[in-house]
Amino acid sequence: MPVTITRVKSLFTAPNGIRLVVVKVETSEPGLYGWGCATFTQRPHTVQVAVDEYLDPFLRGRDVDDIEDVWQSAFVSSYWRNGPILNNALSGVDQALWDIKGKRAGMPVYQLLGGKCRDRVPLYHHCSGRDPKEVEDDIRASMEKGYRYCRAQMAVPKYRTYGAKPNPDEPDIWEPRPYCRSVVTLFEHLRGALGYEIELLHDIHERVPPRDAIQLAKQLEPYQLFFLEDPFAPEDVGYHRQLRQATTTPIAMGELFSNVTEYLPLIQERLIDFIRVHVSTIGGISPSRKLAALCEYFGIRTAWHGPGDVSPVGHAANMHLDLACYNFGIQEETFFKDETREVFPGAPEIHDGCMWPNDRPGLGVDVDETAAARYPFPEREANGCWPAIRRWDGTVIRP
Ligand code: MG
Repeated sequence: MPVTITRVKSLFTAPNGIRLVVVKVETSEPGLYGWGCATFTQRPHTVQVAVDEYLDPFLRGRDVDDIEDVWQSAFVSSYWRNGPILNNALSGVDQALWDIKGKRAGMPVYQLLGGKCRDRVPLYHHCSGRDPKEVEDDIRASMEKGYRYCRAQMAVPKYRTYGAKPNPDEPDIWEPRPYCRSVVTLFEHLRGALGYEIELLHDIHERVPPRDAIQLAKQLEPYQLFFLEDPFAPEDVGYHRQLRQATTTPIAMGELFSNVTEYLPLIQERLIDFIRVHVSTIGGISPSRKLAALCEYFGIRTAWHGPGDVSPVGHAANMHLDLACYNFGIQEETFFKDETREVFPGAPEIHDGCMWPNDRPGLGVDVDETAAARYPFPEREANGCWPAIRRWDGTVIRP
């Protein structure tokens, strides 16, 4: 008798104030269930509808063993497919089915993916400050905790910016060129003060005109970044060929892609060095492991997106891929606070600059539904929409 899916349901929880969506797949075997990450924190209710109103009735009765067939049939069940809403819903199911398969096999998911290539997952830590010295001090403190990779972001005087706390009296506007100049100043200082042993990263966050991004990548070349992230908005990816010709600065790209085929030309032409993938937004572990395998043959490494608005279940999915993919590059770190660990027992351990698996079967993370209910979604302006970032003349800035 096959073990079948009896129910697919979404769960909202917000420990530490972060709005997370996870999916539980229940089965015909008593006590056997799986969890997957479906967090799209800016549009959680749309994912809820996709899971509870569409995937649940579509998938009841399906064999839990058939992960690939479940994925493929659910993928086309809306006829029009892809996009962050449907892919996140699909990821919740996909990751939960990998969790279930691991539990049935008595193995961690990385074993099902081929076994470990490494026994820990190196992380990059977020460092920032209001000026170069503050960023330097933050990196030094991180190095003392064992981090070998740090992302460096700095506030820009007179403007807001991404990844660093603004001075509270700064106006709520953003300008590309003062930002670009400040980044060059920052990295010149950091390499002078810290040398070249520490690996440094920086995230442009897609928000400067393509020509400014190319110029910045070229100016940063002497400072030997580990990678420069998301130089272009998804609409401007045609500039990658020009970027590649202008500089050898390593490029990570793709945090905002939601259709897995968006990566293909960049991989095929070797225009990037790291795939920057939000695993749930392209549909979960199944498409991500295929994409990583393709990249291996092009010399391109992984750098799965790991922000605070990925649930610990999603971070565990990243970790299992990190352990099993030969062409692992680096993993972005989120440090789980006490409330989050209370809701997600088994969340990956972090110490010595690395994430460590707990070797439980499946993804290794459970959800305490009673604890989860104690942290309902907080009220947010415009229901948690990404706020508009504007230039001095009022123009909305992408990402
Ligand atoms: Mg980013």
